[in-house]
Amino acid sequence: MSLLRTDGLTKQFGGLVAVDEVSFEVDSGETRAVIGPNGAGKSTLINCITGALEPTAGTVEFDGEDITGLSPHETVQAGISKSFQTASIFPEMTVRENVEIAALASEHGSFSVDFLKRLSGFDAVHDTTDRMLESVELLGDGDVEAASLPYGDKRRLEIAIALASEPELLLMDEPTAGMSPDETAATVELVEELQDTLDLTILIVEHDMEIIFQIADRILVLNRGQVIADGTPEQVQESEEVQEAYLGGVEL
Ligand code: ADP
Ligand code: MG
Repeated sequence: MSLLRTDGLTKQFGGLVAVDEVSFEVDSGETRAVIGPNGAGKSTLINCITGALEPTAGTVEFDGEDITGLSPHETVQAGISKSFQTASIFPEMTVRENVEIAALASEHGSFSVDFLKRLSGFDAVHDTTDRMLESVELLGDGDVEAASLPYGDKRRLEIAIALASEPELLLMDEPTAGMSPDETAATVELVEELQDTLDLTILIVEHDMEIIFQIADRILVLNRGQVIADGTPEQVQESEEVQEAYLGGVEL
């Protein structure tokens, strides 16, 4: 069953059509990848789904509901969460506090840090936080200041922060960017585990083809904002248009 579906989704920046009538589906429980050369419109597509950007045309449907044009906070409440790169971490707070804040924010919207302190006995938030820290293997680092985590662990914390709202659909935009080979391998393993342990549906943008072919059930290929292929890794590999896009000197 499809959990997410876009229909004719389009985003223009002035004269530039960054996302051009993209229609695709993400099935419940699958790991779905979006690939394409730099500037293909991958991040713009993701941002139109989260509500960070308002589409120029087309629709986004989630869980059978039209969510086109909802705010980022509203899409989180609907069950969509995006793992942000670096921006979401409060460096002076502990690992645990970072996840608690995200769990609270998803329930209550914006609030002050004092509010967090008053709610420190809030069992549901503690439980969620524990589960999410455990799922990214950071439970033992709960009291560590976020700033002092190694780079790879920071990225895992970002994933835990995204998971704190207990989403059905997790969006990741190049989660292994800037990682060492070891950190990349650990992240790939983590993504594979999350899908099983949390029953998550994942939509991932990733430039590393090896990773994509390892983890994706289906791959959407964008080029200049348009869908040039959509299917299983094998189908996409065989697509003439994809090969042309690559042979045209474009590196994914
Ligand atoms: P990708 O993530 O595939 O590398 P993007 O979605 O970031 O591509 O960008 C697609 C196109 O839209 C690029 O040409 C980029 O320069 C342009 N673009 C992205 N965001 C903006 C913006 N906020 N304003 C104007 N142009 C943008
Ligand atoms: Mg991008």
